[in-house]
Formats: sequence, structure tokens, C-alpha cells
Amino acid sequence: MRVTCYSRTLHGVICWVCGNPVEQFLLYGIPSRPGRCPHCGAKPRNRAVHWYLRSIIRPKLAAGSQLLDVGSSRVFVQRFITPSVIGSARCTVIDRRALNFHARIEPPHRFIPMDVVNADFADDTFDVILCNHTLAYVRDDHRALTEIFRCLKPDGLAMLDSGHDQEKTQSVDEYRHDHPELGDDYFAENGDQWVYGQDYFERLQAAGFRPRTDVLFDDYDAAFKREHGLKDHHELIVAFKSPTGDARFPPPHKSSQQSVNHENLKKK
Ligand SMILES: [Zn+2]
Repeated sequence: MRVTCYSRTLHGVICWVCGNPVEQFLLYGIPSRPGRCPHCGAKPRNRAVHWYLRSIIRPKLAAGSQLLDVGSSRVFVQRFITPSVIGSARCTVIDRRALNFHARIEPPHRFIPMDVVNADFADDTFDVILCNHTLAYVRDDHRALTEIFRCLKPDGLAMLDSGHDQEKTQSVDEYRHDHPELGDDYFAENGDQWVYGQDYFERLQAAGFRPRTDVLFDDYDAAFKREHGLKDHHELIVAFKSPTGDARFPPPHKSSQQSVNHENLKKK
């Protein structure tokens, strides 16, 4: 499997989400770290999802395939809903709030103001559902997960990535009690309802999912990852409704990662 060529220019590298040259990635997040594109705003996790959609998901989609994105980011709406990323699939975006960038979504794609805990879709509708870094903002995250599970096709894939650094999941109220130094801005950035722990996978299983952690870019050298605004070690959490989904969307193989053209770039 070939992976997109990411070229180097006189000015640095090309951001592979927007295609613009980037001399230096900007700081983002709390605590702040480098990685935000100065042109399109893409962060390392956006670049990882962009790669995953192009390399793992798009080859398995066809005309008539259906994607759902829950709680879409501006970057996703502006840069991901395009044939080079999602092929000929139709994308539906839902969010509790209708934001100005949602108005830019054009047919055959669509935006529907909708809360995922009351997803008004038939069972088994979507081939792929994205709900990355969104569940930490949803009070009834179990209901959200059961709705995502219900709406996913039996051979579909759900992208349910989330931070899960600590041992046990806590509500934000509990976490704030233990960490009084953190302000509202921290929870606005990272989730205002939940701080997930390593038991996050049990929450996915409780909704019926078969979770899988895919490791991306492990074969890329450290300098390439730094230059392209990637994490040193990037894990992406996906989940399936059945073994047929796992078989339809196999994880990235090291051999495919090695085919990235950065070997050629290093010689320039
Ligand atoms: Zn960019």
C-alpha cells in the first residue's frame, strides 16, 4: 500500500492537510506544545486522522458509502470532506450547535444540528463514524456510544479516539477537586465532562464495541515526525461492531508505512 508523498520545499515542509508550506508549526493546547499548522489550524491528531482516512478507510469506500462525523472540527469540515480524503462517500456532520463553518458543507454532504445521544438515523446506516476527542464533552457518554454502535453498519468502523492517560476515568467535577490548579480553559480544551483513564476501553466494550488501537508512523524517523508535526508515538483508537468490520479495515502494517516516500526525501 502506498502512502501519500509529503514533499520538502525551500521553506520547510508541506502541511499534508492543507498543502501549504510550513516553516514552523505553532504552539497549541494546554499545556502548549508545537504542532499546529499556521495556515489550516491542523494539529498532530488531525494529521493522523487525515492519514488514516486516506490510507486505511478511503480504499474500502465506494459510491453510496456513508460517513458520519460527530462534533466536527473546523479543520475536518474545511479540509477532510473532499474526494482525496473520503473518496466518493457521502459525509453527514452532526453537532449540538450549528456553527458558521457548518454552513460551508455542500451537497451531497450535509450538516444536521443533532445531539448524538438522540441520533435520528436508522440502525446500520453508516460505514464509518468519527467521534474523536468528543465523548469527553458528553455527559451521557454511554448513551452516545450505544447510539453510535446502533447506527454503525455491522462491517463498519468507528473512530473513537480519546486521551486516556490516567488509571481510572473521573468526571470533570472529581478531577477538578483533585486538581484545583486547573482552570476552565483546560477543560474547555480537553473535555468538560470526563477525564478518561485506561478503563476507557471498558466503556467502549460496555456499549458493545470491539476496540482496537492502531499505531501510526512508528517506522518514520524522529526528524521526519518532528518536521511534519507528528507525535513521536501516535496511537489511534478505533472500534468495531463485529469481526467483519475488523476484517474490512485491517490495521496499518509496518511494510505500508515503510513505503512512505520520506526515504527519498531524506536523500535530498
Ligand atoms: Zn495546514
